[in-house]
Amino acid sequence: MPTSEDLDAIVATVHQEMQAHLGEGRVADYIPALARVDPRQFGIAIVTCDGRTAAAGDAETPFSIQSVSKVFTLVLAMNRLDEGLWRRVGREPSGSRFNSIVQLEQERGIPRNPFINAGAIVVTDAVLAGGRPREAIADIAGFMRRLALDEAVSIDPEVAASEEETGFRNASLAYFLRGFDNLQSPVEEVLEVYFNQCALRMTCRQLARAGLFLAQGGLDPLNQIQVTSPERTRRINAIMMTCGHYDASGEFAYRVGLPGKSGVGGGILAIAPRRAAIGVWSPGLCEAGNSLVGQMALQRLVALTGWSVF
Ligand code: GLU
Repeated sequence: MPTSEDLDAIVATVHQEMQAHLGEGRVADYIPALARVDPRQFGIAIVTCDGRTAAAGDAETPFSIQSVSKVFTLVLAMNRLDEGLWRRVGREPSGSRFNSIVQLEQERGIPRNPFINAGAIVVTDAVLAGGRPREAIADIAGFMRRLALDEAVSIDPEVAASEEETGFRNASLAYFLRGFDNLQSPVEEVLEVYFNQCALRMTCRQLARAGLFLAQGGLDPLNQIQVTSPERTRRINAIMMTCGHYDASGEFAYRVGLPGKSGVGGGILAIAPRRAAIGVWSPGLCEAGNSLVGQMALQRLVALTGWSVF
């Protein structure tokens, strides 16, 4: 394990090396709140299992975590349904676009994995569990605040509203799921929760802090709370590795070799098992919808620390 000084130096090196690439990639533009984000931003934060933090760049700037939220709702749904969840959603990489309707039709309403949109909508339905959307949204936000040890984690109302206004494809997926009897709650209620979880605003530091239990067998080592079981933690990490980067998950495993989950806001949460959790953010995306500079930064970080799981 690198010393604190080594870790600070590594993070500073990665930050420095990324300067030449800032602004590369394309910012998500399906809603105005994401389209107007300055692409020349980059943040990185590492929180180690023994409680040290190393951060650089815009590590304290909140951004829209979007699909990174799918990891945390998966934890809540697995805690609630355990193996029963896998009757409703698969765990294979999709090999298709994250919002494919064709695949859902072919597979008769059982989404390929919990990180494509259809799968995440099923997971959100499991978290909602027939209850009230407002309460489920408060539960998810509260879970994130507890994990991040930070009351400042919030939901951006503008993003949530725009997601709803433009979310026709997600609505289509949800109606399909309902048609296959794979949603328990009304479509509008499930979508309300889903759009709000996508609109969570967090910093790299908060994200790394919130994901730390995934590096430590489900136990949050800083406040000694068992967030989920060691077995579920292994499984969530496996799904992050195989499905966490849309249709480029193989490429991420090849280049970085860590379980990770990205979102179209440009954030990535990566887990170095038994070592650390890492939050990176840079808004410009590659073709597949993953942060271009974020992936580069993680590739360099792993080269400098030797933290790849392979
Ligand atoms: N709110 C986006 C959607 O559901 C999330 C996209 C993403 O980060 O993958 O389309």
